[in-house]
Amino acid sequence: MNRNEVLSNLKKNPGISVLIIGGGINGIGAFRDLALNGVDVLLVEKGDFCSGASSASSHMVHGGIRYLENGEFRLVREAVQERNRLLQNAPHLVKPLPTTIPIFRRFSGLLNAPLKFFRLLNKPSERGSLVIKLGLIMYDAYTGRQRVVPKHRFLSRKESLAKWKQLNPNIVNTATYYDGAILQPERLAVELILDAESENPNARAINYVSMIGGSEDTIILRDELTDDTYDVRPKLVINAAGPWIDFTNQKLGLSTRFIGGTKGSHIVVRHEELRKAIGENEFFFENEDGRIVLIFPLYDRVLIGTSDISVENPNEAHCTDDEIDYFLRLTRRIFPSLSLNRENIVFQFSGVRPLPHSAATVTAQISRDHSIEVLSGDWTHLTFPVYSLVGGKWTTFRAFAEQVTDKALAHLGRKRKKDTRSLPIGGGRGFPRDSADLKRQIESLSAWTGVTRERLKVLFERYGTRAEAIATFMNGGTDFLLRSIPGYSRREIIFLVQHEKILHLDDFVLRRSMLGMLGRLTREMVDELADVFGNALGWKAEQKAAEVARTLSILADKHGVRL
Ligand SMILES: Cc1cc2nc3c(=O)[nH]c(=O)nc-3n(C[C@H](O)[C@H](O)[C@H](O)COP(=O)(O)OP(=O)(O)OC[C@H]3O[C@@H](n4cnc5c(N)ncnc54)[C@H](O)[C@@H]3O)c2cc1C
Repeated sequence: MNRNEVLSNLKKNPGISVLIIGGGINGIGAFRDLALNGVDVLLVEKGDFCSGASSASSHMVHGGIRYLENGEFRLVREAVQERNRLLQNAPHLVKPLPTTIPIFRRFSGLLNAPLKFFRLLNKPSERGSLVIKLGLIMYDAYTGRQRVVPKHRFLSRKESLAKWKQLNPNIVNTATYYDGAILQPERLAVELILDAESENPNARAINYVSMIGGSEDTIILRDELTDDTYDVRPKLVINAAGPWIDFTNQKLGLSTRFIGGTKGSHIVVRHEELRKAIGENEFFFENEDGRIVLIFPLYDRVLIGTSDISVENPNEAHCTDDEIDYFLRLTRRIFPSLSLNRENIVFQFSGVRPLPHSAATVTAQISRDHSIEVLSGDWTHLTFPVYSLVGGKWTTFRAFAEQVTDKALAHLGRKRKKDTRSLPIGGGRGFPRDSADLKRQIESLSAWTGVTRERLKVLFERYGTRAEAIATFMNGGTDFLLRSIPGYSRREIIFLVQHEKILHLDDFVLRRSMLGMLGRLTREMVDELADVFGNALGWKAEQKAAEVARTLSILADKHGVRL
């Protein structure tokens, strides 16, 4: 069913087992698991999928070494296991990431962990080698027998400076351990949705549909493209609205204070020397007051972040001048000989972590764990329970979804039939094991579809083994590379429009592709893309102009990109 069919079907059959409000990674994770277990489930997202907190991540799939210090051992163990599973289940989009901590002191922070554990310390401070060593030993231990990534390694000052020549010579040594990089999180999320829908015809996810209210047994949805409204009658509602969870509960007449969101921003810079200086390593370190900073290799760019600032209204989050100054200053501290400035910034973004409401005075100490808050019975005037999904990380979405699904299945009186622990995701299915296997797959696909090996290599990098379906489609009609973006062809884009729920131009430039985030866009590209999308989606001239204007304004207002 396409979007219109799903919506018109809702008019005729408003009864559903589960309604999920919010299409960030937590809503999508629960959607997939419920779908795989045969539940009829509808997910609605007020904007595009993964346009909230899930679009603002640091792109790390990580156990969260620093949570050890907060005593969150359960979370770290779970996150390390989930990191390993994501590396195995989505190898096309999640890659092992050597992560290097430059260390400036030997003994600092020795008392932090025990003091924090007993709630006697609020103010973070920089950690020294010894504390980091202890943390990394524990971190490696959590990986256990699942040795998906190598163990950590310490390098002396001399070895470190020989390896990273631009590194600040004031370091005492470096520690390198492994986590994962999730290169295109938004693409991974869309692939999860497509997997779920292809398994279960009664599972549907639609973007640009908001939940606007509800009472007794009914929830009201609004199609943001047409303003039409729809009544649905669910047996269970999952509020997966991330930082908007309390606002969403309010629309249902429920007064909650589950969320205490903190804003985090990032910048993406084009700086060849810095990119070369970090190699394929993420640099992960603390500034003098203990806040975390990361310098991350993102394709040929460098991603730098992040902040952690309490906010009340998630709609107002944006990357401020102060945050940018802070990122530039800290990068200079690690690589003092490189001149990085505002002119190098090609993209910026900001999002709000849906953390649990907390009395902690230091935001870094608020738990990153996840929980399900249940509202039912006397608490509500509704005939169905509402589960609010509080917290959670990209890394742990599968485990969180499993817990939510188990609870939902119990409520519906059903049994789990499938689990997702070792289930490949989207283009990770049958992904080549090594470069020889990749070469073989490309050669055979090229012979079969007539698409060149060079193009197929790009398609594999972007889509994993979905490259096969895309190349077959490309071969089914006249195809040509776009004039202004020769990395993309017309039929590749038509395939995405037909299969990946793209409704606005910005869905493609910001979330189905990396064109926006990597700062590759020009005005000419936006115009050409609007032509291709316009032809595929039947846009008239005014709609095309409106889409271009919308994309340019989002780029300027939210991402500091003026074309
Ligand atoms: C700065 C930053 C860095 C991070 N870095 C990492 C990292 O490196 N690794 C990691 O594992 N995690 C990271 N995280 C955490 C992770 O990104 C988030 O915890 C996760 O994305 C939360 O997902 P969510 O689905 O709960 O919320 P969201 O992604 O915000 O999804 C909620 C969705 O609900 C929708 N919605 C709201 N109201 C309604 C309504 N009425 N009707 C319909 N839809 C509605 C919103 O539009 C939104 O898309 C980071 C988070 C931030 C902010």
